[in-house]
Amino acid sequence: MSGRVYLVGAGPGAPDLLTLRAVRLLESADIVFHDALVHPGTLALAARAEKIAVGKRCGRHTTAQRFINRRLIDAAGVHATVVRLKGGDPLLFGRAQEEIDALEAAGIDCVVVPGITAALAASAAVRTSMTRRGLSRNVTFVTPRTGAGEEGHDWAQAVLAADTSAIYMGVGEAVAIAATLVARGASRRLPVMIVENASLPEQRCLAMTLAELGSMRGISGPAIILIGEVYAQGQAASAAGGLPERACAA
Ligand code: SAH
Repeated sequence: MSGRVYLVGAGPGAPDLLTLRAVRLLESADIVFHDALVHPGTLALAARAEKIAVGKRCGRHTTAQRFINRRLIDAAGVHATVVRLKGGDPLLFGRAQEEIDALEAAGIDCVVVPGITAALAASAAVRTSMTRRGLSRNVTFVTPRTGAGEEGHDWAQAVLAADTSAIYMGVGEAVAIAATLVARGASRRLPVMIVENASLPEQRCLAMTLAELGSMRGISGPAIILIGEVYAQGQAASAAGGLPERACAA
């Protein structure tokens, strides 16, 4: 038997931000391999499927990528519908390409179902467009994180060149991020938003400047750093006491 593997975007967290296609696939899945961050309510949709956590959280690789690839290939040998459920969109910072390449090399049919990426859920949370006429005409999705054995890359250059940036997997090194950007010429007053747990009941939005990002502490959930002049309004609201933290309840 040769089943098909679906790489499905689970969205940022809230189960009702799944696509209808993702829901249909979860309902008909025989087996689901999922990331650590996938919401229990999302997994519950895969009522008849065996569910296997293969997640990586904050750089801790609980299951080596090559092992995940192997398990997907093996599962397609015994199941018709294999779902590989990944947080947000599968094709952004999700190592999906390694899985797609491994499946293709093994001659297994593979289909990708997009999901709402964290940067867009965070943008919705702070009700701020990443693009705006006259202010922002480009957006960069970037991470300072490099995998083991991977060469460093100039993430700061990408942020400095962009009108608006969404930094994934960066909150743990917020202090270093701020220091690097300031050292490379960014304004200390550049507006920053941190959105933690976007789309979930625990969602928090924090408005600050790049200088303040340099002393950021106390974020424990998944969080994204948004940077750019488009966030100046949030900063102003925060300074005036209208905490965006309150304004952005999911
Ligand atoms: N493929 C995912 C990203 C995986 S990398 C996507 O498209 O969203 C994991 C990073 O995504 C986290 O470190 C964090 O920066 C971000 N992230 C994931 N879920 C999030 C959420 N609910 N709120 C804020 N950031 C989130």
